[in-house]
Amino acid sequence: MSDSTPMMQQYTQIKSKHRDAIVFFRLGDFYEMFHKDAQEASKILGLTLTKRNGIPMCGIPYHASGAYVGRLLQAGKKIAVCEQTKLPEGGKGIAEREVVEVLTPGTVMEEDMLPGENNNYLVALSSPAPDYSDPLQQVYSFAALDVSTGELFLTSYSGPSAAAFLRREIYRYNPPEIVVQESMLEQVSEIAQYLKDSPEILLNRYPDWYFDSRTAAQRLRDLLGVAGLQSFGLAPDSPELHSASVLIDYAEDVTKHRISFLRELQVYKEHDAVSIDESSQKNLELTRNMRDGTRKYTLLDVIDQTQTPMGSRLLQRWLLRPLNSAPAILERQARVRGFYHSQLILSKAAELLGSIRDLDRLAARISLDKGHAKDLLSLGTSLSLSIELLDLLSGANLGGGVPEHSRQGLQEITALIENAIIENPSILLTEGRLIRPGYSPEVDEIRSLKENSRETLESYLSQERDQSGIQNLKLKYNKIIGYHLEVSKGQVSKVPEHFIRRQSLVNAERYTTERLGELESKITLASDRLIELERQCFIQVRQQVRQRVQDILEVSKLVAETDCIQSLARVATLRGYVAPELVEEVLLDIEGGRHPVVEAHLSHGEFVPNSLELSSKKGSTSGRFALITGPNMAGKSTYLRQNALITILAQIGSFVPADRAKIGICDKVFCRVGASDNLARGESTFLVEMNETALILRTATERSLIIMDEVGRGTSTQDGLSIAWAVSEYVLNTIKARTLFATHYHELTELSHPNLQNLSLQVDDEDGEIVFLRRVVPKASSNSYGIHVAQLAGIPRMVIERAQELLNHFDVPAFNPGKPGKQGSKPQKRLFDPLEEISLELKNIDIGTTTPLQALTILARFQESL
Ligand code: ADP
Repeated sequence: MSDSTPMMQQYTQIKSKHRDAIVFFRLGDFYEMFHKDAQEASKILGLTLTKRNGIPMCGIPYHASGAYVGRLLQAGKKIAVCEQTKLPEGGKGIAEREVVEVLTPGTVMEEDMLPGENNNYLVALSSPAPDYSDPLQQVYSFAALDVSTGELFLTSYSGPSAAAFLRREIYRYNPPEIVVQESMLEQVSEIAQYLKDSPEILLNRYPDWYFDSRTAAQRLRDLLGVAGLQSFGLAPDSPELHSASVLIDYAEDVTKHRISFLRELQVYKEHDAVSIDESSQKNLELTRNMRDGTRKYTLLDVIDQTQTPMGSRLLQRWLLRPLNSAPAILERQARVRGFYHSQLILSKAAELLGSIRDLDRLAARISLDKGHAKDLLSLGTSLSLSIELLDLLSGANLGGGVPEHSRQGLQEITALIENAIIENPSILLTEGRLIRPGYSPEVDEIRSLKENSRETLESYLSQERDQSGIQNLKLKYNKIIGYHLEVSKGQVSKVPEHFIRRQSLVNAERYTTERLGELESKITLASDRLIELERQCFIQVRQQVRQRVQDILEVSKLVAETDCIQSLARVATLRGYVAPELVEEVLLDIEGGRHPVVEAHLSHGEFVPNSLELSSKKGSTSGRFALITGPNMAGKSTYLRQNALITILAQIGSFVPADRAKIGICDKVFCRVGASDNLARGESTFLVEMNETALILRTATERSLIIMDEVGRGTSTQDGLSIAWAVSEYVLNTIKARTLFATHYHELTELSHPNLQNLSLQVDDEDGEIVFLRRVVPKASSNSYGIHVAQLAGIPRMVIERAQELLNHFDVPAFNPGKPGKQGSKPQKRLFDPLEEISLELKNIDIGTTTPLQALTILARFQESL
């Protein structure tokens, strides 16, 4: 084989049309991959790469391709499956081949390739008027579609933080695949870089002309079966339509199906919910942890007691977009409270939910004519259970019940499925075993014909047995010669004349007869006819179910919501959470708060609860800005995050881990963590830190909650301290948001402002040994204890002593901020000895390249600084 063989020419031609995909080239029982595809796939799949005539290749058996496909998709690859569509006649020449299916990570429908608990989004990013000359005017369009559930989310943005907006949305939806407008990648370097740093996301670049929002409104109306889109908040020229149109085009193009099962699309705006930017989502470990990106050790993991996949998916969405309006939060909280106080119903509901399957994905598969008989059965039972559940809840005043306009339709479907499909049906359409007796007279008739012929066969056998006297005459069937009579060698002499010999075995002879031939063709005909009739009947049932997909999706949504509510009620019960009070004032008042995740991984009673009061109300002793000091490992980060997590929990309608909590509703939550944690990203860590700090300073409002942990850590002490100081001042004086600011710059505690309170984590120093008490106290910490922690970690005594010596030597005079609270006030005392600084700078001067004028300038500066 070489590139010039007819087969490789055929391959090259096919590959040229699927350059962005790994081509699975069917060769007999294998899918072969060649050239770069083979190199890439062999690496991902751990296959041996071989070479034939210089062509790198690897292959997988076609019948076991499923698992390999899944792994390639997970690695962000697209696959084009190329089958042999016609074999060469007379064995000459090569088979005809065609790509019959393209699989991409964002459009797969196969159940075993989709984790139930997560959505699988395909995202599109675009800009309806790609000008980019004025970043502030630039409008961005964002769409996310889950092909496996039919959910479509649209939004748009224009303003100064476009890149942050796009990053936040991408991180939140966590899509394995993105369709992006070419000009956007070229012009918005931050997004291009972000996508480049995320190789696990499959990127499809499309030229600008491919995005056309003119026809989009019409297409969406068709797909949703509605006359207008106003009720979704869309006008014909809404920017959201721009990315939506290309998204649907792309999905339909790849799957070769109309996305006809869209459920209510949701159009949302920046201010509809609490905004949690990308790095805050990450740092708070809401749904994915920082270690390996899984949901272990996340807030979601602790609060997810959902029983259904759609419930689990919805809970994730709630968590990443908490509510920001009091009535909506209180309504949810009231439902959680209802369940919380009806433990009996809570456990009954959980039990029913436990048997309900993924209604969204079943509905989507049925809409695409992919659902098999077992899917229909699961749908039927799941719908009955859903109706039972919703009735139970509405009876107990805990929910709205099944919508009246859907009830009858849904009951019809469940009855239809129950009457039509047999108990343990085949998952194929080509082997019968689908339709229940009594459902279709036609099926019944042909089935009894088939069964009768069996009886006829039996009586024919006993007739021949009697006539010939061959007692062990057997009637058998195999694929090659069909029905036949088998006579053991010892009895062959008794074989009558009308037996026609077909096959000889070592111990037996096989015969047919004219009559047997006749009976056989009758049976085959009946079997084929039965299979065909059952198939037709099944398809009819499926089509009837398809008519009700919107009703199914509506019930699915109610079930998912119920599931989330019962999950929150269950967690509140299991973990002793309390219902928070929600208010409009800018305050945060938490008594005995706990970190939900840290607590969950400690033994009962080990976690030390801590309170917090952030408020600038008259009469309150605390300010809105808490500066938290204390040595490493004292518990600062835990304390910071627990207060953000409690706020988020409260705003999704949940109970919270505290003895009592009063939460002023927030519009945004920020959580910024010092740079060293971002090392893996490869950007300049300090730049990342400053970018993210800038985002907070630009976009936080008085109603936001800001958590800053060790900001300024990514640079030298002097720079870091100055930045931390200036940032604190800006937040205190200009933004005035509720803020928790943890720092190891002890000098910051000198900052004085009416809205600032100093907190620290209490540490006991017992005979040189430090003991972390994990208790927050209302004063600044006295020491940074770093050397003690080093000692705890087992650093040799000699090193510790030397460090102590050096510490005394470097002892830094305190920053003196001048008048408290005055913005831009300059530190009047320097942090470091000027002579030390001068000598450092002198050492670094390159005499060879310094001009006399530069030298004089430097001298003047030195003089000034003394
Ligand atoms: P810091 O940010 O001050 O370095 P951390 O918040 O990372 O400290 O906490 C250090 C360790 O102490 C963590 O492993 C955490 O599990 C534990 N811890 C923190 N706060 C508490 C608490 N309130 N009760 C019990 N253990 C705690």
